[in-house]
Amino acid sequence: MLKVLEVEGAVERIASRWQRTLRPWRYDEERVERVTELRRAEQAAMVEYVITDECRMAYLRRQLDDPAAERCGRCDNCTGRRLSTDLDAAEVEAAVAYLRRSDVVVEPRRRWPVGVREVSGTIDEALRLQPGRALSVYGDGGWGNVVRRSKYQGHRYPDELVAAAAALITRWGPDPAPQWVTYVPSTSSAELVPDFAARLARTMRLPLVDVVRRTRTGRPQKEMENSAQQFRNVFGAFTVRGSVPATPCLLVDDIVDSRWTLTVVGVALREAGSGPVYPFVLAQALSSS
Ligand SMILES: [Zn+2]
Repeated sequence: MLKVLEVEGAVERIASRWQRTLRPWRYDEERVERVTELRRAEQAAMVEYVITDECRMAYLRRQLDDPAAERCGRCDNCTGRRLSTDLDAAEVEAAVAYLRRSDVVVEPRRRWPVGVREVSGTIDEALRLQPGRALSVYGDGGWGNVVRRSKYQGHRYPDELVAAAAALITRWGPDPAPQWVTYVPSTSSAELVPDFAARLARTMRLPLVDVVRRTRTGRPQKEMENSAQQFRNVFGAFTVRGSVPATPCLLVDDIVDSRWTLTVVGVALREAGSGPVYPFVLAQALSSS
């Protein structure tokens, strides 16, 4: 977006920052609508290409304004020869098993966001998260689909996710190993995460220590437009109450997006006396940055 605004002369880059120029600028709604309409027409043409029963080459050439668009005699519609799209069940199963073993690393954030007043520079190493793990990418063919379905239905994360999470953590083997489990209280779907964290703790034979509280209700992180907004939405929104073990901790949440929630809760836990904090989430959002 900033690059576009720069081309239009509305902002300029100064060292590593952006600044508004004095040049007047307004959002060109007409042009945007024109371009959007064009893109919609292109999308419709792509769909049509898939379902058409005319020669596909002729269709493409006509889309490109070729007046001499004739039947190619080679495509599936010309020859009537269809390739099979049936998948070998054993291969599909092997692919899913592969995806389910592909853990996603959740790298700790090392710097506070730029351009907010409350904090700046690097996050004190003693307060930072340890590298964590995600069981899947949200909606992927491994566990991601199971996570999405459960979250959407809002009932309960199934036992197979608890077992898969425990297996991943064993495989991963954080060192020093976490001695207790806690979780991020969510705004929506209130019961999903605590319930999952409790069952995971039981499976791992670790105590669940419920110490993180929300002090205010933020909007869902996915509604925020950028990292600084996501940070503001959660900064100061959590507090830690009760007695916090001084040993390493596993911090559980279901979906990680900007990592600001985990980062901020991690800092609160360390400040309250916790040992190193390892985040674990069921899925990484696709938009993660
Ligand atoms: Zn053809």
